[in-house]
Amino acid sequence: MRIVDIIEKKRDGAELTREEIEELILGYVKEQVPDYQVAAFLMAVYFRGMTDRETATLTDVMMHSGDTVDLSCLRGVKVDKHSTGGVGDTTTLIVAPLVAACGGMVAKMSGRGLGHTGGTLDKLESIPGVSVEQPLERFMDIVQRIGLAVIGQTGNLVPADKKLYALRDVTGTIGSTPLIASSIMSKKLAAGSDAIVLDVKMGTGAFMHTVEDAKQLASQMVRIGAHLGRRCEAIITDMNQPLGLAVGNALEVQEAVNALSGLVPEDDPLMQVCLLLGSHMLMLSDIAASEEEGKQMLLHALRTGDGLEKLRQMVKEFGGDPAYIHVERIKDLCKVRRLVEVYPLQDGYLTGLVAEKIGIASQLLGAGRAKKEDVIDPAVGLIMHKRVGDPVYVAESFCTLYVNDDSHLSEAIALLHESMTISDEKPARSPLVYAVVKE
Ligand code: URA
Ligand code: CA
Repeated sequence: MRIVDIIEKKRDGAELTREEIEELILGYVKEQVPDYQVAAFLMAVYFRGMTDRETATLTDVMMHSGDTVDLSCLRGVKVDKHSTGGVGDTTTLIVAPLVAACGGMVAKMSGRGLGHTGGTLDKLESIPGVSVEQPLERFMDIVQRIGLAVIGQTGNLVPADKKLYALRDVTGTIGSTPLIASSIMSKKLAAGSDAIVLDVKMGTGAFMHTVEDAKQLASQMVRIGAHLGRRCEAIITDMNQPLGLAVGNALEVQEAVNALSGLVPEDDPLMQVCLLLGSHMLMLSDIAASEEEGKQMLLHALRTGDGLEKLRQMVKEFGGDPAYIHVERIKDLCKVRRLVEVYPLQDGYLTGLVAEKIGIASQLLGAGRAKKEDVIDPAVGLIMHKRVGDPVYVAESFCTLYVNDDSHLSEAIALLHESMTISDEKPARSPLVYAVVKE
C-alpha cells in the first residue's frame, strides 16, 4: 500500500479503511512515514472531514499507538472528566473531590498549562511538597483507597497524538473537528476510565467559537466513546469570560478551597458548572438517578466538608502538606511582593471580556508558560472583580494583579484593558450552559 494513494483517497473525499489509517498513523509513529506526507493527509482531512466510522477508527489506532491503562482491577465505575481548555477553569479541583466524597471513583490524568490556558497539575504543585508524577501502581492504589487521584500522564500514552499535535500546530490543521475529537478521546480512552464527562468550552477563550461547532465536536466525541464501549456525555459551557474569578495557580487552588468550604454561592457560574459536571459524573457512575439527585448529593458533600476533606487526603497522598487545604492557610501560598489594582478606562456596563487575553495577562505575570520548558511562579496571577453584565466605574478596581516580577506588568495591564468592552447599555446575560449532549 502506497502512502500517496491513501492521501489521494482522502483528498478525493472517500472513506479510508482501518488498514489504511493504521498504515499511515503507525508508520508515522515509527518514523517510516515522513512529516510532509502526514501534513498533506491532515490538510485533506481538514477540508474533507471524516465519517463517524473513520474518526472512531483513527481514535482507536491512536489510542493503541502506545501504552494503555487498565483500571479494571479497581472496584466500581471509574469516572473521568475533561475540559477542552479554558481560563480560570478550576472545576477539576472542586468537582473531583466532591464526586469522590459521594462515592465516585475519580481516576484522572491531567495536563499542564500551555499558552493562555491553565493546567490542573501546575495548580496542584503550587501546594508545597505535592508531586503529581506518580507511578501507575501508586495511582491505582490511591484511587482504590480514597476514590480520588489526579496525576500527570504516565508512561508512553498515545505517542501518535504527541507527534500529530505538534505537526497540526505548524500546518494550520488544529481546528478540524475529527482531528480534535480523536486527539482528546484517544488520550481519555487510553487512560482507562469507564465513564467520561466532557466539558466542551465555547467562546472567545475556546477552540470552538459557535454553539453549532461545539455541538458537533461534542456529539462526535460522545459517539466515539460509545463506539469504543465507554459511557460518555458532554456539556457545552460558556468560555466568553473566565469561568471562575481567579486566574493563576495557587490563586485557583485558593478558589477551589473556598468553594469546597462553602464560600462561593451555589448560583455562581463556577459552582453551577461544577454541580452540572459532577451530577453527570455521578449519573454515569450509577450513583445518582437524576441531575437533581446528583446535585443534592454534591451539595451535601459540600456542606459537610467531605469534599474539602477528600482534596486534603489527595494532597497528603501526593506528599503535600494537607494543612494548606484550609481557607486561612491557603492564603500563605498567594503571598506576593505587591498587589496592583487595574481600573476600567470608562464608566458603564461590562458588555464583553476576551478570556484569552486575560489568560495571557496572567501568563505574562509568570503564572503560565509560553514554552514547555518555562518555569512558572505559583503565587502570581490575578483575581477578577467583575463579570460580563456588571456595572464598572473608573474609580473601582476591575481586577487585582498578584505580582512578583514587574518586567511584563505594563503589557499585562494593557491586555486587561483590551479584554474589556464597556458600553452604556446593560447587556443581556448570555447563557452559561448551552446544551447537554448524550448519545
Ligand atoms: N486538546 C487536545 O488534546 N487536542 C486537540 O486537538 C485540541 C485540544
Ligand atoms: Ca487496552
